[in-house]
Amino acid sequence: MESPWRAEFFWLALLAFAGLFFGKTTGLYVIGACLAVLAYLIRQLYHINRITLWLRAGGKIPQGSGIWEEIYYLIYRLRRRNKSRKKRLVEMLERFRTATAALPDATVVLGPRDEIDWFNEAAGRLLGLRKGDIGQQISNLLRAPKFAEFLRARNYAATVGIASPVVEKGQLEIRVVPYGKDMRLLIAQDVTQLRFMERVRSDFVANVSHELRTPLTVLRGYVETLGDAGEALPERYQKIFRRMEEQTTRMQKLIDGLLALTKLESGAQADLKRVCAAALLKTVCDEARLLQQDGQSLELRLESGADLLGLEAELRSAFSNLVLNALKYARGDSAVTVLWRDEPGGAALDVEDDGPGIAAEHLPRLTERFYRADAGKSGAGLGLAIVKHVLTRHEGELKIASSPGKGSCFSCRFPEKRLLRNRA
Ligand code: ADP
Repeated sequence: MESPWRAEFFWLALLAFAGLFFGKTTGLYVIGACLAVLAYLIRQLYHINRITLWLRAGGKIPQGSGIWEEIYYLIYRLRRRNKSRKKRLVEMLERFRTATAALPDATVVLGPRDEIDWFNEAAGRLLGLRKGDIGQQISNLLRAPKFAEFLRARNYAATVGIASPVVEKGQLEIRVVPYGKDMRLLIAQDVTQLRFMERVRSDFVANVSHELRTPLTVLRGYVETLGDAGEALPERYQKIFRRMEEQTTRMQKLIDGLLALTKLESGAQADLKRVCAAALLKTVCDEARLLQQDGQSLELRLESGADLLGLEAELRSAFSNLVLNALKYARGDSAVTVLWRDEPGGAALDVEDDGPGIAAEHLPRLTERFYRADAGKSGAGLGLAIVKHVLTRHEGELKIASSPGKGSCFSCRFPEKRLLRNRA
């Protein structure tokens, strides 16, 4: 295109020349100049009017000359680009909608006040949402108290399991992911099948453990009786009976541990009671002292006066697992410390020993069933799994600080809502 400014100057020069010519022929130079400026102004106003009409109503690109031709063209190009960008965005949105609609998980977009902004087909199927529910607060539609509390807590790392409000016996696992400004995505996964399989597994383990318990008790009885009469037997038989006794005791512990775990997994949350932490810890430590090796000592320090809200039997089993482990792994001449203390947001029980410690790679897996960092020491590998379950049921958590050669500290942390601080 020819330079637009050149054409514009041509127009300006033409009008100036016409004004000059008018002045020369009439002698009224000022009027001539005014007429030239007026004509130029009219030309600009004319084009401004055209551009406004065009921008408002759309249609064909207007024709112009000089700088106006350039302006019309640039606006036209901008519009065309915007149009194709809009088209691409609409296509992308459509693809996104089709993809999210096809997701097997229920997906709901929540606004700042937990109101429903959008949801996919699966949300209709699993959560029973309908078109008319848009704008409603989700907690008015999913009325499980657990869900309301979960939503209020805004703990985005956690998930909550609830029964599906529409699918009979359906189980859902819900998580919430924050995004953008005050927006959140609620994702509900159908875990009915998974929960069913978990129940089958846990029933199987419980049944097998239960069925093994009776024959094992009989076997242990016989082995013990034979062992008692051991002195009359030749030395090599005595050794065999001692081994048999050790192994049956180990199997008994395994079965007891497995049964305790299945009870914890399937047991409904019973009525919570005030558990005097000081008294419980004194009993646990007194019992543990009976098993400590000569030269070992066990110190109990009670720095917090808080009591626990929970189930005494479960807490007792968790605490004594930790204390007995500490004595088992501590050196023969060392002190194990049990400390009940306050901490920001709750209270904690620290069980500390100066044993061999645990290498970092084992730490994340220690609470798995049957996981043993030290295969040398006899043990079922179920103790810490039980501790973790008990703590989860008490809304607490287990923290392990340990490094090889430096001993270990197992901390059970309880949140303030699981503590009672005023004297009963
Ligand atoms: P186990 O019956 O084998 O002790 P646990 O579940 O109680 O089972 O512990 C799992 C593993 O964690 C143990 O096998 C051991 O390797 C490690 N462990 C637990 N407590 C301690 C401790 N106080 N010091 C060192 N290692 C420990």
